[in-house]
Amino acid sequence: MTGRKDDIKVISFDVEGTIVTTDFSAAIWFEMIPQRYAERYGLEFDEATRRIRKEYDSVGDQRLEWYDVQYWFTRFDLGRADIAMEALQDRVIYYPETREVLHTLAKDYHLSVASGSPRPFLRHLLRDVEHHFRNVFSSTTDFQQVKTADFYQRMCRRLSVKPRQIVHIGDNRQFDFTEPASVGIRAFYLDREGKSGDAASLRHLGQLADLLNG
Ligand SMILES: [Mg+2]
Repeated sequence: MTGRKDDIKVISFDVEGTIVTTDFSAAIWFEMIPQRYAERYGLEFDEATRRIRKEYDSVGDQRLEWYDVQYWFTRFDLGRADIAMEALQDRVIYYPETREVLHTLAKDYHLSVASGSPRPFLRHLLRDVEHHFRNVFSSTTDFQQVKTADFYQRMCRRLSVKPRQIVHIGDNRQFDFTEPASVGIRAFYLDREGKSGDAASLRHLGQLADLLNG
């Protein structure tokens, strides 16, 4: 960490893989959608999964549609995604340290969300922790893009703070480290599995709290 911690105004968090596990999303993409697809087209679950993964891959995570559940429900003729998502609310699981870290950091910093997940997802993913955040930015819903340098610059303008006054943390090296760091945000790559071999990466959110409060 360079600079004094009192220069920092905002702590920005990615959501999936950072404050909440990917269980909820996995349940939607790889359980509910294949299940409904199988029922709709009279297929076995495994065959439905195989076809759906192929469809997902044909779009890929650099395109906005990939993130839009209703897009897929419409494409596969499965009805309304919002009702289906509500039924999976109990699959939203926070990491063990999440609540305590947010509670602690919220005393000294303005906490914000910078997620690539669309707002219909964030409504579920943030339900129990939303009160800690003063701002929630969805790159896909609010700015029609994945988390690019341009997204982070716009976020800074909306927050009325300089990039170097923002700390961002997230588990995607490109979207949460390379892109925000390129505009001057103090970015931290969260590598919960420790597989990257990156000495500067953090393993859990408690390490960020220690860095900021230490
Ligand atoms: Mg993430």
